[in-house]
Amino acid sequence: TDRIPSPGMLPGETDEAAIRPGSLDEFVGQPRIKETLAIAIEAAKKRGESLDHILFSGPPGLGKTTLAGIVAREMGVGIRSTSGPVLDRPGDLAAQLTALSSGDVLFIDEIHRLNPVVEEILYPAMEDACIDVMIGEGPGARSVPLPLEEFTLVGATTKIGLLGSPLRDRFGLVFRLNLYEVADLVGIVQRSALIMQTPITPDGAHEIAKRSRGTPRIANRLLRRVRDFAVVRGDGTIDGDTADRALTMLGIDGLGLDDLDRRILSVVADDFGGGPVGARTIAISIGEEVRTVEEVYEPYLIRIGFLKRTPQGRETTDAARWHIGLI
Ligand code: ADP
Repeated sequence: TDRIPSPGMLPGETDEAAIRPGSLDEFVGQPRIKETLAIAIEAAKKRGESLDHILFSGPPGLGKTTLAGIVAREMGVGIRSTSGPVLDRPGDLAAQLTALSSGDVLFIDEIHRLNPVVEEILYPAMEDACIDVMIGEGPGARSVPLPLEEFTLVGATTKIGLLGSPLRDRFGLVFRLNLYEVADLVGIVQRSALIMQTPITPDGAHEIAKRSRGTPRIANRLLRRVRDFAVVRGDGTIDGDTADRALTMLGIDGLGLDDLDRRILSVVADDFGGGPVGARTIAISIGEEVRTVEEVYEPYLIRIGFLKRTPQGRETTDAARWHIGLI
């Protein structure tokens, strides 16, 4: 989707390298994850070993890729990045694995979308730093073990439930990232504004943070839009009023909901009398894919108490009906 609140990357959008935190200290929020990682990294360095394999799960835009980069940097090793759907054949993964230097990080995004035959290769690689390669073809073909350098696999997934236990159990460190609190998002907006040399008041940062759907990537995106608005319509400073006007102009309401969110709510609340309605029916009504509805829209609507997931389907709450003006 190309709507502004989408937590995925928009086409052509690169997260500005400058605002991506490069160390654990710069990474805002998630104190428990940072502390556990810091200890694991220091211990591995003291022992002179590679770091345990790490799995990050959680909705898009919460910092999984960023943390993979930070881990490599703090360990002082290299990183190669790829993703589940890109590793189509076993040879694709073998090529990545054999290219690693000792201690390097291999980052696999969307690891739940790995082809099962590719995933099989990952098991001995993670466990014994070794892969089996097939030599020859036909009846004379045989498999030969090929040793690899010690490495750290960092996996990221938006759907940990789709990960089989043989793979999940091979990660020594498993972290779940949840949507961020507004206070942390305020910190992220202020940090990014400082790097972009954009003056911003505490009210301005708060206005952007509370409309960012708990997602750092969205917070940074809204900040850029509001910055443009502040330069064109004002003196370049972002205060609460400027942020509010800019975001309202973009169709983003006080809770960070856009037209499509409100349409989802109105389908359930109005067209289906409050539900329950299946995700598929909702998706068809608004012309989106079921996966998008489930992974992009629903988590935040559920988080703010507007939507409930029941075995029969989705239901809206009074708060949602009030928000869209039905009561
Ligand atoms: P994911 O891999 O989970 O989709 P990313 O790691 O790509 O998310 O993060 C998206 C953007 O949000 C990055 O550009 C980064 O700058 C920013 N970001 C994410 N988490 C944080 C954080 N805790 N502190 C500061 N910036 C963050």
